[in-house]
Amino acid sequence: MNLLGRSIVGASDAPLNGTVFHAFNPVDGARLEPAFSAATPQESDSAVRLAADAFSAFSRIPGRERAVLLRSIAAGLERNAENLVSRAMLETALPKARLEGEVLRTSNQLKLFAEVLEEGSWVGARIDRADPNRKPAPKPDIRSMLRPLGPVVVFGASNFPLAFSVAGGDTASALAAGNPVIVKAHPAHPGVSELAARVIQQSVRECGLPEGVFSLLFDNGTQAGVALVRHSLVKAVGFTGSHAAGRALMDIAASRPDPIPFFGELGSTNPVFILPGALRERWEALASGLHGSFTLGAGQFCTKPGMVFVPEAPQAGSFAAELRRLTSASPQFHLLTAGIRKAYSSATAQRAAHQGIQSKAEYTVAHPKETQERQNGDGHDRGNDEQGFSVQAMFFETDIETFLKNSDFAAEVFGPATLLVHRASGKAALEIAEKLEGHLTATIHGTEEDLKENAALVAALEAKAGRLIFNGFPTGVEVCHAMVHGGPYPATTDGRSTSVGSQAIFRFTRPVCYQGFPEQSLPPELQDTNPLSILRMIDGKTTREAIK
Ligand code: NAP
Repeated sequence: MNLLGRSIVGASDAPLNGTVFHAFNPVDGARLEPAFSAATPQESDSAVRLAADAFSAFSRIPGRERAVLLRSIAAGLERNAENLVSRAMLETALPKARLEGEVLRTSNQLKLFAEVLEEGSWVGARIDRADPNRKPAPKPDIRSMLRPLGPVVVFGASNFPLAFSVAGGDTASALAAGNPVIVKAHPAHPGVSELAARVIQQSVRECGLPEGVFSLLFDNGTQAGVALVRHSLVKAVGFTGSHAAGRALMDIAASRPDPIPFFGELGSTNPVFILPGALRERWEALASGLHGSFTLGAGQFCTKPGMVFVPEAPQAGSFAAELRRLTSASPQFHLLTAGIRKAYSSATAQRAAHQGIQSKAEYTVAHPKETQERQNGDGHDRGNDEQGFSVQAMFFETDIETFLKNSDFAAEVFGPATLLVHRASGKAALEIAEKLEGHLTATIHGTEEDLKENAALVAALEAKAGRLIFNGFPTGVEVCHAMVHGGPYPATTDGRSTSVGSQAIFRFTRPVCYQGFPEQSLPPELQDTNPLSILRMIDGKTTREAIK
């Protein structure tokens, strides 16, 4: 498949009207061909209008037909896996095996939502039958279920060029619920975005669906994204990225005359609490597990463990020394973009210069080389010189007192760095947990005895994170029915939801109630005969039975 470098507006390729930009290879900073043309305001508007036109038909087709679309996209991604992986390698420098896994993760995610649609009960159908004899007033027939919202805008993430991008979780869940989708591609991987979008475009066509069900817009500035979030016909947004961008877009969504839901996944520092029993029994395994977790994917995971609390214990010194050794021996990593590399360099340099940070002299800190950033058009850092976007892993240590005095130590450093906080157990650990902001995950390493003694810590963490992990590592987010990839603000903009797993579908729906409607005018999910054989709540009882 040849890349055209144009936005995809429904069934058409946009003309090459906009300002052009390129992707860059993180390994050597080389500019990649072809040039991509940013969407014009007219193209953004056309994509939204087509989506709004498609909504009525797409939202009404049976879930099982939408499942056919999702399975067709999944099959198309798998057929094109080689192309997708080789372009993604050029644009992200992520290893081949990781990207091959990501293609499968993306197609499996689509298949999971297809299964949810085929089973059908996800709509949460509820029926309260009429009771004309109820006193003092007759009870009306009331039925409700979840319905889609309308056109959804999805912002692809830089760090998952497939699974959180064009055909990723937000797109899959929004389409599954019956919403047309307009993706604003991440400018760091436009080529792989176009390849995935062409697969979706072909599936929409082959399934005989309205063209507005899917569009892809390119931009390497904020114009297209802002216009989409402001557009009056857009009804919800899914976003994965930085706090700054997420917050700016969330505020735009909230300040519209008709505010719309904004589901932003803004990242997290993912605290890890190591309890005394675990440190005593397996400090060495903990050090290598932790090192593997904070350097995985060059540390560019929103679930990277960025702060680790260890108790005062005889093994704490050996544990820290082993982490130091592993970090020094780490290979060079390539970050995704010049902007991410620059943010990593400045955050780690600031941390290394801080007085309260210990052990600087005891380990080798190879500071990322300052490379010349190339400014591109809108002022975003895009390209780089021949060194690419390379950095070293970094490991910092401090103590509990210094940590509690410096709120910026709890901030996310995106990249292969972590912070060890000493003398943090018992009451101190609890105090930290109570002061934490919202995170995607919180991890506890301990024995069962430790866990019993620290029940208050677990309770405190439950209020701060979407996923609690016992004796594991937070990187690696399983796509399944029970997964929660969310958490209180600022981890996400709506802590009541998840962006991974089948429950993600609920974000792009709202409950609609039908009162007194005749059987034939109700959606099949709410008809007496239960033609889809789904699980429903009838007069307060859950059943698959029809109403006789
Ligand atoms: P980003 O800067 O937040 O960009 C994400 C998307 O939002 C891009 O499409 C970007 O387009 C757009 N955007 C940025 N600022 C905007 C604004 N003011 N108005 C409208 N659109 C805007 O994220 P990134 O480029 O992926 O990485 C930068 C930082 O994000 C990282 O250092 C890391 O801290 C964080 N991050 C978090 C996650 C996570 O999982 N939560 C994932 C990746 C990155 P343009 O680039 O064209 O402006």
